[in-house]
Amino acid sequence: MRIFDRYIERPPEWFRRLMPEGLYRMPQSAGNGRAVWLTFDDGPVPEVTPWVLDTLDLYDAKATFFMVGENAARHPDLLESVRRRGHSIGNHTYHHLNGRGVSAEDYINDVEAADSVLGSGLFRPPHGWLGRRARRLLSERYRLVMYDVVTRDYSNRLSGDDVVEVVRRLSRDGSIIVFHDSVRSEPRLRAGLPASLEWLRGEGYEFKTF
Ligand SMILES: [Zn+2]
Repeated sequence: MRIFDRYIERPPEWFRRLMPEGLYRMPQSAGNGRAVWLTFDDGPVPEVTPWVLDTLDLYDAKATFFMVGENAARHPDLLESVRRRGHSIGNHTYHHLNGRGVSAEDYINDVEAADSVLGSGLFRPPHGWLGRRARRLLSERYRLVMYDVVTRDYSNRLSGDDVVEVVRRLSRDGSIIVFHDSVRSEPRLRAGLPASLEWLRGEGYEFKTF
């Protein structure tokens, strides 16, 4: 494994301090059992999202979906379905915008365009990065939800088993865990999500949402 991959899988403290407004891990539940917050980025897409919803149902698990506004606008039935089945919705910009090389104004306009479709008080920046000004302005209006465990299900260098291994190695009480309901992640997700949920449940984790 490349050393850099470890930094991605569990963002180190120095990285978390770059964006102090961000929420990386939920406060521990002080002896009242253990919980994780499952999140799915980049959907909704018909190839993957309905399968994710069915899989979550099998484990009676609720999750938070950080949607790309453009995808939600194209598939309003999926947006509705995620909501109706008891999951939370978050904003992941309208165009899956990278904060680098875009003005704060353009960035915020893109987030607002997504908000008109999604109507959520949760925001997660694509590529894990936000400029200082956009960050300050957005954190006044949104809860900035980052992550404690990045499964790297998007990486075609990994297998479904590798994804499960990341979940087993790095999940802890309060972890916010990232998967992707995207076509790119589909093979790892289909091979790794059920076993990840099975393992988490076996370890006594509750699945919570924002
Ligand atoms: Zn994304």
